[in-house]
Amino acid sequence: MIIEKLVAGPFASNCYIVGSQSNKEGMIIDPGDDAKRILKKVGELKLDIKLILLTHGHIDHTGALKEVGEATGAEVAIHADDAKSLKEQPFSKMFGLSYPTPPPPDRLLEDGDSIDIGDLHFLVLHTPGHTPGGICLLGEGVVFSGDTLFNYGIGRSDLPGGSYSQLMNSLQTKLMTLPDDTIVYPGHGPETTIRAERRGNPFLRG
Ligand SMILES: [Zn+2]
Ligand SMILES: [Zn+2]
Repeated sequence: MIIEKLVAGPFASNCYIVGSQSNKEGMIIDPGDDAKRILKKVGELKLDIKLILLTHGHIDHTGALKEVGEATGAEVAIHADDAKSLKEQPFSKMFGLSYPTPPPPDRLLEDGDSIDIGDLHFLVLHTPGHTPGGICLLGEGVVFSGDTLFNYGIGRSDLPGGSYSQLMNSLQTKLMTLPDDTIVYPGHGPETTIRAERRGNPFLRG
């Protein structure tokens, strides 16, 4: 599996470009900013982008969506409960950010949906708490955790639509149940593993 991380935007959000080695199909997870750099990297990797997957609807993960979507022609997928924030973007006003409004998503995700990119298979885990429609994407030995789980941290639950009890429930029932060796690729900051978080994350130890 090809996994490339680009850090972009004022919130240092992680955008991941994920691809299949065998047939060069790929997806982009969370194009938050800097569309040109994302597209340049896609070109270097020679990937045919089939899908743009959004872990949630916050502007720091979706700011470059319109430009990257138009350039790749890829389908855009987001959980149904976060789809409307793509259009409204409450945070762009709050933080004084301005990005072009993307068209409506092509695919609305639900818990348990499967996503296939070339020979790669992924499972959608609905993990509300940071936002109502936040998801994590589970692949073979990896999970893209959005703003639900960070390296020794967890997502904020004090933003509109957030819920601390939902977030803790998502973490305990969807992520802490994964195998220890699962590599976690979060929405901000460095990678980690489920083992490291189980042992050392101050929000999850116990
Ligand atoms: Zn967020
Ligand atoms: Zn974020």
